Amino acid sequence: MTVIRFRASQDQEVDLARTYDAVVVGSGAAGGMAAHVLTSQGMKVLLLEAGKKVPIEQELRSMEWPYDHPRRGEAPPGYHAIRFNEYNVRQPPYATKSAFKHVFSYVGGWGGSDYVKNILVDEKDHPYTGTRYAWVRARLLGGKTNIWGRLALRLSDYDFKGKTHDGYGEDWPISYADIEPYYDKVDLYLGISGHKENLPHLPDSLFQRPNKLTAAEVTLRKSLATMGRTLTPYRAGVTTDGVKNRYRSKCFGRGACGRRPGGCDIHAAFDSPTGLIYPAMDTGNLTLRTNSVAHEVLVDPNTGKARGISFVDAQNHKTYEAKAKVVILAASTLESARLLLLSKSRQHPNGIGNSSGHVGHNFCEHVMGPGVTGLVKELVGAEPTLDDGKPGGFYVPRFRNLQDKQPGFIRGYGFEGGAGFSIFPDSAWNTPGFGGQFKKSVREHAGAFISMGGFGEVLARYENYMDLDPAVKDAWGIPVLRFHYQFSDNEKKMCEDMANAGKEMFEAAGIEVVGVDKNILTEGWSIHELGTARMGTDPKTSVLNQFQQSHDVKNLFVVDGSSHVSASCQNPTWTIMALAWRSCEHLADEFKRGNL
Ligand SMILES: Cc1cc2nc3c(=O)[nH]c(=O)nc-3n(C[C@H](O)[C@H](O)[C@H](O)COP(=O)(O)OP(=O)(O)OC[C@H]3O[C@@H](n4cnc5c(N)ncnc54)[C@H](O)[C@@H]3O)c2cc1C
Ligand code: SF4
Repeated sequence: MTVIRFRASQDQEVDLARTYDAVVVGSGAAGGMAAHVLTSQGMKVLLLEAGKKVPIEQELRSMEWPYDHPRRGEAPPGYHAIRFNEYNVRQPPYATKSAFKHVFSYVGGWGGSDYVKNILVDEKDHPYTGTRYAWVRARLLGGKTNIWGRLALRLSDYDFKGKTHDGYGEDWPISYADIEPYYDKVDLYLGISGHKENLPHLPDSLFQRPNKLTAAEVTLRKSLATMGRTLTPYRAGVTTDGVKNRYRSKCFGRGACGRRPGGCDIHAAFDSPTGLIYPAMDTGNLTLRTNSVAHEVLVDPNTGKARGISFVDAQNHKTYEAKAKVVILAASTLESARLLLLSKSRQHPNGIGNSSGHVGHNFCEHVMGPGVTGLVKELVGAEPTLDDGKPGGFYVPRFRNLQDKQPGFIRGYGFEGGAGFSIFPDSAWNTPGFGGQFKKSVREHAGAFISMGGFGEVLARYENYMDLDPAVKDAWGIPVLRFHYQFSDNEKKMCEDMANAGKEMFEAAGIEVVGVDKNILTEGWSIHELGTARMGTDPKTSVLNQFQQSHDVKNLFVVDGSSHVSASCQNPTWTIMALAWRSCEHLADEFKRGNL
């Protein structure tokens, strides 16, 4: 058994009189990676994180059985998670006038989850306005990586060169060959579990031991192969064989990370604090200041260059300045755009780095909702097997608009799914009957269900954007984001196809289709927000160059998903980290040469 060692107190003293080599804003996947790469290159880095350092193992309690919790995992009275209908019928800010003391995004489940009540933001303190949007935020050390879904996928040149392929939007200023070595570095440093498939549109990673497929998943995999499609074990950002990192253990296969956002208290699943930040602190080059809400990139009036960050202490509400030679924003796609827009000065009247007017624009993400549920009849009454003791089910990669051309839509979608026995058989909710017969039926069918849901690419469009609300402010007096965003016809047509194709694939595999969901979930539901400060070669139509460096301000970098040019349909976190690694290596080189 691996013993995990938790951090001794070796935090560097924060010294706001000092000028650091670099200040990084945000400690999630992007900020953690920036801290790791820059400190390993010998740079002295100050990391500002708006949230607290939460004793995460005590929150997640991955070993707790549902019956050991007084409310079976539900949040306490007074806590409310926003429901699907609320998102659609009402307008943001959703928590205004709510009778509940605390209001959270949907992600913990309708009653709210006790395990994430100190991880997700309270919407009462963090309003936003404009068009409907389900915005999930985690303000704490490590951000959303504490509870992410772990599906770790690479993008391919079908994504990086999307415009060349189908004529829409813009190509990225990099190709797969540029980023491949950095995907490899991320795989090796953090660990990823999966199975090689040799697909040009979903490149393989350097995998550790894959998760085993269940019987129903094997049935579907075999059938899809005859259609030229693939079902592969969940590519999980989880170390199954172990990595050299004293803060993490290899996966014990408890499946708790799948508990409506679950997290992993032994850190087999990647999270930024144990995967990146604590090792960076061990170099002696990283200083961390939590409870530090950045609200402006400070500018040198003589040079127009960035000179640091102005931030509010989340607890005492006082304003401070952090000085640095290089500023790196990694506050997440929407928060980094907000920061750029908030940073208005004489030299940068539209917000720093925004001479193009593209900051906040070209927003893109994934559309989801349509899915299918089926019953594998041969498995009804089968002996129970341990199916959910693993960090994920399966993934069906994109198969549309690769060699073919769909009439109704461009780009593609993939499916995430799972099958087999689980800690609680969801089918119990829909099983008719009472008493002994009901229980028998639930038990007999518990391992025979299979389901999957689609994640499709939302096209990046200039008209989909966020700006600052002129009136509404958050609990720290900082203007909030206002959304101007909705799905287009392309996404709607793609969703129709998702539902039909899912049904078709189950039928072809001889799986009885028991449910087809055609509804599209609210904008934002995928939690894969991207593209508000895109990279490009033309400073008139893009915000950053290929190294996520501002076209306007050479010592300003934005290393999170805001830099993505298009959304792909593959989940973004592994790409966010590979890109950040590449950019920060370049940054460190330029810094050493005195070019910043
Ligand atoms: C339930 C769930 C499931 C997910 N599943 C997947 C998945 O399967 N695969 C996948 O690829 N992705 C998944 N994601 C998305 C993934 O978590 C994000 O892509 C990733 O965390 C983005 O990293 P980031 O650093 O940009 O943002 P974050 O992880 O959100 O980190 C941003 C950090 O910046 C801090 N911050 C924000 N504003 C400020 C400020 N003004 N000053 C200082 N600090 C600030 C925040 O507190 C936070 O700590 C999932 C997310 C959730 C919540
Ligand atoms: S299955 Fe693995 S990654 Fe998931 S909670 Fe258990 S140990 Fe962690």
